[in-house]
Amino acid sequence: MKNNMSTLVTGGNGLVGSTLECDLRVGSEFDLRNPIICDRLFKKEKPVNVIHCAAKVGGLGGNMNKKGEFFYDNIMINTNVIESCRKNGVVRLVCFLSTCVFPDSATYPLTTSQIHLGEPHNSNYPYAYAKRMAEVQIRAYREQYGLNYVTVIPTNIYGPNDNFNLDGGHVIPSLIHKCYLAKKNGTEFRVWGSGKPLREFIFSKDVGKLTEWVLDNYNDVEPLILSTSKEVPIKEVVDLIVKHIKFMGVVVWDYDKPDGQFRKPSDNSELMSLLPNFEFTSLDEGLKETIDWFVDNYETCRK
Ligand code: GDP
Repeated sequence: MKNNMSTLVTGGNGLVGSTLECDLRVGSEFDLRNPIICDRLFKKEKPVNVIHCAAKVGGLGGNMNKKGEFFYDNIMINTNVIESCRKNGVVRLVCFLSTCVFPDSATYPLTTSQIHLGEPHNSNYPYAYAKRMAEVQIRAYREQYGLNYVTVIPTNIYGPNDNFNLDGGHVIPSLIHKCYLAKKNGTEFRVWGSGKPLREFIFSKDVGKLTEWVLDNYNDVEPLILSTSKEVPIKEVVDLIVKHIKFMGVVVWDYDKPDGQFRKPSDNSELMSLLPNFEFTSLDEGLKETIDWFVDNYETCRK
C-alpha cells in the first residue's frame, strides 16, 4: 500500500483478509459483536486505516437456517466497527458489503443506485439488511462527520482460507470439499440444484489487490462493485472442480436442494473505468490454486 500508516484488518484470517498487507489482523479472538471489546481493540491499536472484512458468512445453507443469528451478529459487528473507527480517529475505512444487498427484484446488471429499492432475496435477507445498514451508517458518517470512509461490493469470492464447510459454506468451497470426499471415499459427488444458476466469481487475491487500491485511491460515497462481470453457470464450476480434483465418479444433481437466485450479474463499469488494465485471475487458474491449497491444508483448514 502507498499509504504507510498502520492498517487493521478485521476478518484478517479469512478469505480476503488473509491476502491483505497490514500491521494487524484480527480474527475470531475478538468478539466484535461486543462494543466494549471492539472499542478496546481500537483504543489499544490506534489504527489509521481499517479494512473491515469480518462478518458472519455462509452460503445458501447457513443463511437459511440461522436467520436470527445472521442478523444479530452482522448488524452488531458492523455497527461497532464503524463507530469505533469514528471514535478513535480512523482516517480511512474500507467496509465490505456483498451483492446480496441488492433487491431480489433488481434490474440487471446490478448497479449501486438500486441497493435500497426493494426487499433482498428471502433466503438471506437478515445478512443483506445488516450489510445495507453498514452502507447507510457510512453514508451518514460521511455526511455528519466528514469521514472519508468507503464501501465495496465484491461478487462471489473464492480462494484459499475460505470456509470449506459442507453445508454452511459458499458454493465453491463446499463443492471442492464434497468432490474431494467423493474421490477419497469412492462415492458419488452430490451437487445442489440444477447447475443452471449463474454467478460471477472473483478470486480472493484479486479482491485483495483491488482493496489495497481502493484504500489508497477511492473516495466516493457510492459503493464500488468489485466484479469480473463474467457470468458462469454452476455446472461449469462443477466441471472445473472435477477436472482439478481428477474425480472419475458420478456427479449427481440434487434437485431437492435450492437453486437460489437464478442470476445476479453486476455492472463493473465503474471499476473498469478506474482500473482499465486490471487483469483478473481466470476461474480455471483460481480454482486450481484454491484446490491445491485445500488439499495441502486439509487437516487444519476451516471446514
Ligand atoms: P449465493 O451465491 O448467495 O446464492 O450462494 P452460494 O454462493 O451458496 O451459491 C449458491 C448456488 O450454488 C446455488 O445455485 C446452489 O444451488 C448451488 N450449489 C450447488 N452445490 C452447492 C453446495 O454444495 N453449496 C452451496 N452453498 N451451493 C451449492
